[in-house]
Amino acid sequence: MNGNNNKTAIVVGGGVAGASICYALSKQNIKTILMEKQSKPATKASGNPIGVVYPFLTKHKTAESEFSYLAFQYFLELWDSLDLGNTVPHVDGIHYLLDSGSAYDRYSHALKNHNIPKSLAELRMDPYSQKDSLFFPQGKALSPVELSKELIRYAKPEEVYQTNLISWVETEGKIICQTNKESIHTDYLFLAQGYQFASDPRLNWIPMKQVRGQIVQVPMNYFPNNTSILYGDYLTAEINGERVLGASFDEFHLEEEPRMEETIQLWKGLQEKLPNLRESWDGVDLSQLGTRVSYRTQSQDRHPVVGKLPNVSQLDTSIKYQNLFRKNGKPFQIPYFESVGILNGLGSRGITHALLAANILVNLVLGLPKKNPKEEMNVPEHIIQSLKPDRFLLRMWKRDQLT
Ligand SMILES: Cc1cc2nc3c(=O)[nH]c(=O)nc-3n(C[C@H](O)[C@H](O)[C@H](O)COP(=O)(O)OP(=O)(O)OC[C@H]3O[C@@H](n4cnc5c(N)ncnc54)[C@H](O)[C@@H]3O)c2cc1C
Repeated sequence: MNGNNNKTAIVVGGGVAGASICYALSKQNIKTILMEKQSKPATKASGNPIGVVYPFLTKHKTAESEFSYLAFQYFLELWDSLDLGNTVPHVDGIHYLLDSGSAYDRYSHALKNHNIPKSLAELRMDPYSQKDSLFFPQGKALSPVELSKELIRYAKPEEVYQTNLISWVETEGKIICQTNKESIHTDYLFLAQGYQFASDPRLNWIPMKQVRGQIVQVPMNYFPNNTSILYGDYLTAEINGERVLGASFDEFHLEEEPRMEETIQLWKGLQEKLPNLRESWDGVDLSQLGTRVSYRTQSQDRHPVVGKLPNVSQLDTSIKYQNLFRKNGKPFQIPYFESVGILNGLGSRGITHALLAANILVNLVLGLPKKNPKEEMNVPEHIIQSLKPDRFLLRMWKRDQLT
């Protein structure tokens, strides 16, 4: 008998993060409402026509690279077990170009230091540029919109659209959510609002920012590549008749209108890196290509933000870091909204990272035992700790910035 059988949860945000949380909750039999401001899922950051899935690797293991590699493996496990290959438009195979000595050094060591088998990544020549590359045979170009929809279809939450979470309070073990339509009581609240996190006053202490991203949509017959090629920017394989050339990012100017100069820059960058990809680069009217602007959310340390939400209004700010080592120094304790979780700051890797992040989050908020038999993957404690929003509070505390 699962003790959560009569519990309810609200998940705010119908992007890939919210969809992944719904999926993780469905495995715990929690009755879930997915609340989304727009009229359908995945219209914001998760609304690009194509995104790429592959892990972020560093030369030596770091919490970031270990998490990313585990998340990639978890993604592939679910991809197979949910048979997503049959429902989510995708193309396997990613070549990550290693066109400098230092890149080759970094990634050849990364393979060894993370014990990555050849079935997941190996050094191999990219056929289109004839350059060394790190090849991810199971890396994917896919439709993030269809992935999000499929996860929601599996999870079967009650879906409420055009519904905007305006405010929430935790009171006597329940959470009351006020929306533009009604007030709803729930046992658990999961916040996955993407870049719109800042309108929630309980989140605005978390150092995350909105970053503008622009992609170019290119007709499939412009290029011949059957796999996606990453070279700083990226050109994806073809899905539904088009490829995506991406992405330019800007954290200072956030206007929604596409910028022609960025299309030109992306195009020039591609021509420079992969000159053989077209016979002639002349005569293409770039103004005819589709573009899309969306916004990713990036945390200060570029690591996702995943965990129970600290309740900063309850912090005892009289406890100073400098006094910690004195006799009778009080330990610094972080109070939480016990039933509220956050999944945000997914940066440029949300499609790859959201599923594992959601699994970790649901385990934390529901207080599930560490070795949950239902859990496919056992994530080391130091990685779970590295993801928690607590890290920013601790940093501020050490710098005496909590007043
Ligand atoms: C240009 C670009 C290219 C990218 N390419 C890749 C890639 O190739 N591979 C990869 O892994 N990642 C990529 N990313 C990153 C990835 O797209 C994001 O990390 C991911 O989509 C974030 O998902 P999310 O659910 O957190 O946010 P979103 O998809 O933005 O979802 C948040 C949702 O919350 C809703 N919402 C907000 N506030 C409220 C409220 N108060 N009430 C109700 N609903 C609310 C919004 O309407 C929105 O639908 C890219 C990002 C950008 C911008």
